[in-house]
Amino acid sequence: MDRVALQKCSYGMYIVCAAKDGRLNGQIVNTVFQITSEPPTVSVSINKQNLTHEYIQAGKAFTVSILPEETPMPFIGLFGFKSGRDIDKLATVNYKMGVTGAPVVLDNTLSYLECEVVGSMDVGTHTIFIGKIVDAVVLQEGRPMTYEYFHRMKGGKAPRTAPTYVKEESAAEKPAEKTGGTMAKYVCTICGYIYDPEQGDPASGVKPGTSFEDVPDSWVCPICGAPKTAFEKTA
Ligand code: FE
Repeated sequence: MDRVALQKCSYGMYIVCAAKDGRLNGQIVNTVFQITSEPPTVSVSINKQNLTHEYIQAGKAFTVSILPEETPMPFIGLFGFKSGRDIDKLATVNYKMGVTGAPVVLDNTLSYLECEVVGSMDVGTHTIFIGKIVDAVVLQEGRPMTYEYFHRMKGGKAPRTAPTYVKEESAAEKPAEKTGGTMAKYVCTICGYIYDPEQGDPASGVKPGTSFEDVPDSWVCPICGAPKTAFEKTA
């Protein structure tokens, strides 16, 4: 079986949120799709290890925020590579409480759906939740980010709990381009983000042309927040 064949499937990029006993959480998913139009229903596949899974089961509801192509990587990293068991992901973003009791993320959102869980299916590592849409709102116009765009333009990787995670994915398969420069690129072993000295990380105050060695020790991965020590030199 050639698993690369599966990578030709197209997906979107979404934040799915849920609530349990007044606690709120959300995560990046790429597996939302519409099942029926009458009544309007969608499904989503969520890893059983994720806190959002526990919250969807408890609250019997979830919301879906559809992300545009312009969504910044740190925002995706916040929801995609961090756990709600460690931090309150909604503390630093704009959201509102939806009609189902689940929160709706409003930042970087083209439109959102609010869903009541009307069914689910245990599929081993994941549960597929089926949600009846009880409200849907367009917040702004824009191009929705596809999963392919995320990988191609943002250098994104799937976390280990993603349905589309490919075990063989490794930095070794992505040798650094030889551009004639002498400064090496470094890859985050957690999320796959590549630090390119020529670009630096201006958003975090690291100027273009800064070698990885000269990046401050307090600097963290702009996608997943991993420390500098989690990086290794690319081949
Ligand atoms: Fe990272």
